[in-house]
Amino acid sequence: MGDEKVKNEAMEIMGLFQVLPRLVVFDLDYTLWPFYCECRSKNEKPSMYPQAKGILHAFKDKGVNVAIASRSPTPDIANAFLQKLEIKSMFVAQEIFSSWTHKTEHFQKINRKTAVPYNEMLFFDDENRNIQAVKSLFVNCSKHSVDSNNYITCQSRSNKCYMQILEIHIVS
Ligand SMILES: [Mg+2]
Repeated sequence: MGDEKVKNEAMEIMGLFQVLPRLVVFDLDYTLWPFYCECRSKNEKPSMYPQAKGILHAFKDKGVNVAIASRSPTPDIANAFLQKLEIKSMFVAQEIFSSWTHKTEHFQKINRKTAVPYNEMLFFDDENRNIQAVKSLFVNCSKHSVDSNNYITCQSRSNKCYMQILEIHIVS
């Protein structure tokens, strides 16, 4: 499915909800793209999960800001990939650094930069330990996993909106 078609479907689904998060924060590795960027070379041409770009654009068009919280030990590679994918300018905050805290430090920085309260943020990550830590700040969280067809699926309790958007991945 093309980016534009995904975007339109995602926006249609978002339109069903009266309240959307003010800020959606994404992990990078195994959330936006299917690899650890520390295992790749900066010179490679990266690709994202098939529908990720369309969904990012849908959030932007709906007036929902997007940000990054990544514990990647290679922010230089992550940044090079974000540039190559032409999505770097979309994010209002990009916190990419390794840390012993499981992203609570990332969220404190994002909160200071954007002034969006934690409870109006939504966070997507594939790792439980990050979800558990960030949840303690009262951020709404949602865990991704990738099924055998390489589509992102979602075990969400907190945000039906995004869960439905992700269903697009499964049926497409
Ligand atoms: Mg990850």
